[in-house]
Amino acid sequence: MRNKLVVGNWKMHGRLATNPGLLDAIRSGISTQTAKSAGVVVQVALCLPYPYLAQARQSLEGSSMAWGAQDVSEHDQGAWTGEVSGSMLADFCCRYVLVGHSERRSFFAETDAIVAAKFAAAQRAGLIPILCVGETLVEREAGVTHDVITRQLDAVLAVNGSAAFVRAVVAYEPVWAIGTGKTATPAQAQEVHAAIRGRLARESADLGNRLQILYGGSVKPSNVADIFSQPDIDGGLIGGASLVAVDFLAICAAA
Ligand code: PEP
Repeated sequence: MRNKLVVGNWKMHGRLATNPGLLDAIRSGISTQTAKSAGVVVQVALCLPYPYLAQARQSLEGSSMAWGAQDVSEHDQGAWTGEVSGSMLADFCCRYVLVGHSERRSFFAETDAIVAAKFAAAQRAGLIPILCVGETLVEREAGVTHDVITRQLDAVLAVNGSAAFVRAVVAYEPVWAIGTGKTATPAQAQEVHAAIRGRLARESADLGNRLQILYGGSVKPSNVADIFSQPDIDGGLIGGASLVAVDFLAICAAA
């Protein structure tokens, strides 16, 4: 039985003055849930904008929760103005970092090769990369969803090897479902999750079994139960709903 993982992606939201209220509400809600759910391991994490990582650490240190960032440089240090390295994130005790989020791929022209290099950089710094993969609506309608997902996974496998996935998470996020209110049906999500697991299982059956695969795309309290009940869905990557404590806690409770 794989452990569950729920990760909030705050995107470019939050303010210094209001973050502590949200962080504290989530932290105290999670500690109540943890006390009630003996035996089920549900890790909860938040990926915040860089400037707020110190606040996340201050609020969440000593709790069962983890925190992380939404991107990382492929470079370790040097003349790379504006970049933030994995070791800088490790300085703030980040556990996770998103790599290849569709907003990075589409708005910031991150190629499969860049995503693979960021995955490697995250692991060099001891972080757990959450590799985001997903197809656009055009790709789904063209019937190439599986080709796209396989291409995105294979690019990371080619550079990092399958052993690198022992300490990594994959998030399946259909681009057409992110921030749109449209959710993949549980069956659509399950089908792609099974394919992702199958691709990794081709490298090693054990790896396929162990890999945590999260679903992301307009997950909310009203649809989470059906999504999380699928056998190959091990939790969620949650955008909008992670900014509302009561909604995020309901999603964590479903996990
Ligand atoms: C995301 O940002 O990864 C995401 C899934 O967003 P939302 O839940 O808002 O669709």
